[in-house]
Amino acid sequence: IVAYWKDRTKKREAFPFKIDGVVVSVNNNVAFKKLGVVGKSPRGIRAFKFSPKEATTIIEDIKLQVGRTGAVTPVAVLKPVEIDGVTISRATLHNIDEIKKLGVKIKDTVSVVRAGDVIPAVSRVFPELRTGRERKFEMPETCPSCGTKLIKPKGEVILRCPNPKCFARRKKYFYHFISKGGFDIVGLGPRIIDRLIDEGLVSDPADLFNLKGRNFTPFRKRNGN
Ligand SMILES: [Zn+2]
Repeated sequence: IVAYWKDRTKKREAFPFKIDGVVVSVNNNVAFKKLGVVGKSPRGIRAFKFSPKEATTIIEDIKLQVGRTGAVTPVAVLKPVEIDGVTISRATLHNIDEIKKLGVKIKDTVSVVRAGDVIPAVSRVFPELRTGRERKFEMPETCPSCGTKLIKPKGEVILRCPNPKCFARRKKYFYHFISKGGFDIVGLGPRIIDRLIDEGLVSDPADLFNLKGRNFTPFRKRNGN
């Protein structure tokens, strides 16, 4: 039974309908009768639920994230909630069209889904739970990082920061550069990159290869290691 339940857990996404578990029934009439009934539920039938992929929480705020290509995407900052053993505190809202389609406001109670390995997304809004303190979210006209006027390329729903020198864009570019998909530089993470940029030690990923040990001395001192 457990093996079957585990197998269905893996295959649940493939069904054309949503399921939240499996029901197991004893298929021997004599044994079924013998097991009897508790209240209204026969002991011969049991529901084996899946761990939920969806949870209800509150959107504390909607923040903007500037990507490597300049794409500005709204991200919901959530009251932390656990889905399938993982604590979720952020969910993507994709773009302003999606926000309008969902009708989502800041402080709204929402349903968040986490399917497979994808980024959690807001799937549903509960307007009936509004208290009056909700605020409408407006997309800005300028980049939240560098202040450049955002552009919306034809046929796209995503706003972009066109400034190639945009600080947020550059940071994301650096993160990408050191990531597994890039140069896969072990031991160099976003936090160190942030520090290196803040200290003015690098402005282009190529600068990383010119760094000397002494450049890291202030880091050691401040970190105490
Ligand atoms: Zn920018």
